[in-house]
Amino acid sequence: MMSESEVLTTELTPSSEFSDERILCVDCGEKFIWTAGEQVFFHDKGLKNPPKRCKSCKQAKNERLAAISASHASGARQRIEVTVVCAQCGQQTTVPFYPSQGRPVYCRSCFLAGRAMSARA
Ligand SMILES: [Zn+2]
Ligand SMILES: [Zn+2]
Repeated sequence: MMSESEVLTTELTPSSEFSDERILCVDCGEKFIWTAGEQVFFHDKGLKNPPKRCKSCKQAKNERLAAISASHASGARQRIEVTVVCAQCGQQTTVPFYPSQGRPVYCRSCFLAGRAMSARA
């Protein structure tokens, strides 16, 4: 039996598995570099999703979360007041929570009006 020369398909290139990527920050809309080194870190941690925020936005978010958990931990009734623009009437208002990205935030009257509407529907 004649044997043909076996061809090993070695298309794996381990060293170049990770390369710098550009990602659009969901908070500020700026592109940031997700470095190969960070990708290796994510890979090692078993994290599947790439980061959504640039470093400064991530830090800002962490600070917000830290402030929230700190106020929870201390038990002190710290009033959280975040200035937002109402998605309904466009007026500036403050809400007692940190709105999540991409969710519309309403002022009190619009919020109550919306709730009344959906209750009727
Ligand atoms: Zn950002
Ligand atoms: Zn409103």
